[in-house]
Amino acid sequence: MSAYMGKYADELIINARYIASPGKGILAADESTSTIGKRFQNINVENVEQTRKDYRELLFTAPGVMKYLSGVILYEEALYQKTNSGKPFVELMKEGGVLPGIKVDKGIVELPGTDGETATTGLDGLGERCAAYYKAGARFAKWRAVLKIGEKEPTDLAIDENAHGLARYSIICQENGLVPIVEPEILSDGSHDIKKCAEVTERVLIACYKHLINNHVLLEGTLLKPNMVTGGSDGPKSSNEDIARYTILALQRTVPVAVPGIMFLSGGQSEEEATLNLNAMNKFNTMKPWTLSFSYGRALQQSTLKAWSGKKENIPNAQKVLLGRCKANSDATLGRYVGGAGGASASESLYVKNYKY
Ligand code: 13P
Repeated sequence: MSAYMGKYADELIINARYIASPGKGILAADESTSTIGKRFQNINVENVEQTRKDYRELLFTAPGVMKYLSGVILYEEALYQKTNSGKPFVELMKEGGVLPGIKVDKGIVELPGTDGETATTGLDGLGERCAAYYKAGARFAKWRAVLKIGEKEPTDLAIDENAHGLARYSIICQENGLVPIVEPEILSDGSHDIKKCAEVTERVLIACYKHLINNHVLLEGTLLKPNMVTGGSDGPKSSNEDIARYTILALQRTVPVAVPGIMFLSGGQSEEEATLNLNAMNKFNTMKPWTLSFSYGRALQQSTLKAWSGKKENIPNAQKVLLGRCKANSDATLGRYVGGAGGASASESLYVKNYKY
């Protein structure tokens, strides 16, 4: 089966490898307008274009933050926005050595014939949109597929449909110069144990790579964004070391060596938990052919949002909070995090039932 070898092949490989540089990770700041609205509601900030821009400017101009990042995922609106002093966000990132990414899916819809399982939409017109995003400076993309664990779930239908969608999206991205992040998120909702999550994660990843290969996706020019293998939100809790062990084993069994990096989502873990689990994985002494890093949304932004609370005078402090979290996760990609960054508030659970992005 021949993989994509078109005009962007070399660039895709270089950019995917760059994003997976040890010591760096991705800031997922691509909340849709309604999702960021929910975050703003918690801190009493109005959800309008100016406040969204102010908040994202705070994130991207935080002094020193870029050195811990290799990529930032943007929502479409932000790809074209500028700082208050007139510098495009994309330019700011380029100067900081950070690749701009873009969320390209259009959200999830219920999969008919299932008990509330979903499929991701957004394939129509995706090629044209990717070409425009590349022109605007984006170099990688994200498409979030969502699966859930239940008595009968995920069904083979949901796994197959979501893996197929991820593969179609991936090859369209590559043909337009964007490194696709393959994100099959298995929600932590449920009372299952860690073994069940491991088994489902393996089933899902096997299907994803089967479809990616069948669709001629150049694996060297992709990144994987999986959930960590953990017990369910209402199930038995596991130690950081057990989460690391089960997660790495599931990945070793299913993710080809050709994939340069695995950038985890935080999935409702607290900031501190997400960092400690990543650190435990990078400390774990076993064969790891890919970089293990972060692509966190909630677990990078929660304390920063609170510290900001929509007030101009809070910006410097909020930026310090973000810097601390990014440094902690950068250390964790090297297995050097000693814990304690961000104090007690970093340990608050960020779990939301049936999470929509
Ligand atoms: P969380 O880290 O908040 O789970 O989100 C990451 C993300 O980009 C989900 O698509």
